[in-house]
Amino acid sequence: MKFKIVTLGCKVNAYESEYMKECLLKSGFIYDDNYPDIVIINTCSVTNMADRKSRKIVHKEKREHPLACLVVAGCSSQNHSSDYEKMDIDILIGNKNKSKIVDLIKDYIDNHNKYTYFTSNRDLEFEDMKVEKFTTHTRAYIKIEDGCDNFCSYCIIPYVRGSVRSKDFQKVLEEARVLALNNHQEIVLTGIHTGRYQWMDKDLSDLIYELAKIPELKRIRLSSIEITELNDKFLELLKNEPKIANHLHIPLQSGSDTVLKMMNRKYNTAYFKEKIAKIRRICPDISITTDCIVGHPYETVECFKEYVDFCKEINFSKLHVFPYSKRDGTASSRMPQIDDDIKKERVKVLLELSKELEDTYASTFVGKKLLVLTEEIDGEYTTGLTSNYLKVYIKGKYTSNQMLLVEITEIKNDKIVGEVVLSQE
Ligand code: SF4
Repeated sequence: MKFKIVTLGCKVNAYESEYMKECLLKSGFIYDDNYPDIVIINTCSVTNMADRKSRKIVHKEKREHPLACLVVAGCSSQNHSSDYEKMDIDILIGNKNKSKIVDLIKDYIDNHNKYTYFTSNRDLEFEDMKVEKFTTHTRAYIKIEDGCDNFCSYCIIPYVRGSVRSKDFQKVLEEARVLALNNHQEIVLTGIHTGRYQWMDKDLSDLIYELAKIPELKRIRLSSIEITELNDKFLELLKNEPKIANHLHIPLQSGSDTVLKMMNRKYNTAYFKEKIAKIRRICPDISITTDCIVGHPYETVECFKEYVDFCKEINFSKLHVFPYSKRDGTASSRMPQIDDDIKKERVKVLLELSKELEDTYASTFVGKKLLVLTEEIDGEYTTGLTSNYLKVYIKGKYTSNQMLLVEITEIKNDKIVGEVVLSQE
């Protein structure tokens, strides 16, 4: 039987989809985007827009493949189970039971019994999954943690992904060894709150320290980490371990202390600034990217001005900008809301700033040599990513998944262009 998977949202969802795909392939199912007998949609609920998009895709797939077995999973179905229950879905789950996908599908094929399962329990066990080889990217993801206990005022994730739990330390190492032997030179450690990784007495730094000993593994990246989790032990590791990517994605969310407080974030701007200074003392040219929510309740004109100034002061290398989106059931949804037009204006301001910051950061690398992990051919170039997360357009055509030493020659039409100096091997 043939199947396809449509994935929305974050790297955690991407990992879980890849896992479901691998399990189905190993069980004899065939991947086919065009004529599937089974369609799996792994949904996202991070914003209202993501929910809308998830529902739209479910309808679209049902329309295009009316006879296929329709499977819906993920954060949006978890968050709005009653809405999804009204749709004609054959297997409907939330964030639990993705690891049972093969049995659920086989059971449906044999008996045609529709299946729905949701739990509202926050204290869940870590649902063990394991991917041996990623089919869609050269970089491999490992989900090392799930859930969040922070309850930021605007966020629904703690309600749909449960409380913090982590993957068995030895199992992460085993998974990374297999991925590395299958030619993945870079792994990205992912989770909802990756910095809270804890297995017995081992934390994230202990895990990276052990992962770095795997010889075939060249680069270890974190999908993101909270500023409060960048403790001295981690900073020491950052200083001494060359395999850690020269890039940290640290969500800021607002640059105004008033708004940060209303968001129930666990730091203020002074704390953020001090930690960034510490990081830059260790790695002066590190790329620090961030997430910015714009238009959260209580973001006055003055607060927004402070926010923009703070982003400039921190000198991020890129801002991921999101207009605040009201999520029912969260504390922020009960606060006075900001007009959509104001949000749009402010998003524009931060996007423009991001462009400036990106250009400034990238231009400091012109004339320098960086290792690039190649991904795909794009016209006369091969694209790839550096340790500090720059997308480089290398002149010429190279096979994917090679670590090449590249000299950055120019920034041309918003592209960072480089030439191979020599291949690392
Ligand atoms: S840390 Fe805050 S923003 Fe991030 S998932 Fe947890 S509650 Fe949501």
